[in-house]
Amino acid sequence: MPELPEAETIVRGLRGNVVGRRISSTTVIRPDVLDQTPGQFVRAIKGLPISGVSRRGKNVIIELGPSAVLKVNLGMTGGLFPLGRGERNSGVTHPAVRFRFVGGGQLVYNDARRFGRLRVFDQQGWSDWSDRLGPEPLSRDFSDRQFAESLRASRTPIRNWLLDQRRVAGVGNIYASEALFRARVDPRRSARSLSTDEAGALRRAVTEVLQEAVDARGTTIRDYKDADGAAGSFGPRLHVYGREAKPCRACGTAIVRVVFGNRSAFLCPACQPWPEMTARQPA
Ligand SMILES: [Zn+2]
Repeated sequence: MPELPEAETIVRGLRGNVVGRRISSTTVIRPDVLDQTPGQFVRAIKGLPISGVSRRGKNVIIELGPSAVLKVNLGMTGGLFPLGRGERNSGVTHPAVRFRFVGGGQLVYNDARRFGRLRVFDQQGWSDWSDRLGPEPLSRDFSDRQFAESLRASRTPIRNWLLDQRRVAGVGNIYASEALFRARVDPRRSARSLSTDEAGALRRAVTEVLQEAVDARGTTIRDYKDADGAAGSFGPRLHVYGREAKPCRACGTAIVRVVFGNRSAFLCPACQPWPEMTARQPA
């Protein structure tokens, strides 16, 4: 599933291809990817120019003129493919929505499994929606102080806390597992059990792992490709995610997969010790 780095990579690839283009018509092939009726959706964006492409959390944001915002949540297998006039792309296997541009060319939303969702907002609706998300982890709003205070109020397991988009925007299961490994925190611990030092280490680990993954153009797991159809290169640098039973790159201990909250988490039991166990060990 695309997380922040994969969405950011898609945004950077799209920007040069679609900003300045004006939507002439839209064809909805798979209405189940819309959060609105196809009629509402098509009418709301008809004739609008694409004025910018950005990101909020894991979502690709296509700014339409001064008045509307198209939010694309890529789900498991969603992708956005800009095509020139008459151009084909082998990545377009399951087109769900086609946005055609004045003067030729189009942007295709492709989604094999159709867990992705598209929604058009007016400006007020967009800022209301965006305000409900947590801070952007690559921005200054994501500070040690804000993070530590926010953790202190929650009994939720820290891995689940990181996945909650209202707490921090853009983190999914891959980068939650990786950040917790870097910070040496067991993913099952409650958020409020983290010490101030651990909270600071985790805040920095979240920022660092996401920034490094953005620089590597994301992690390619199964279906994810960026807007140019290229694979991300962060995969070989994962320490725990998807590495069950393989040796920890830091200490050689076998990586363990645990399932809670209906999701897998991966950890090194030596590098991320449960605090009570540590306390019981003789000095
Ligand atoms: Zn280890």
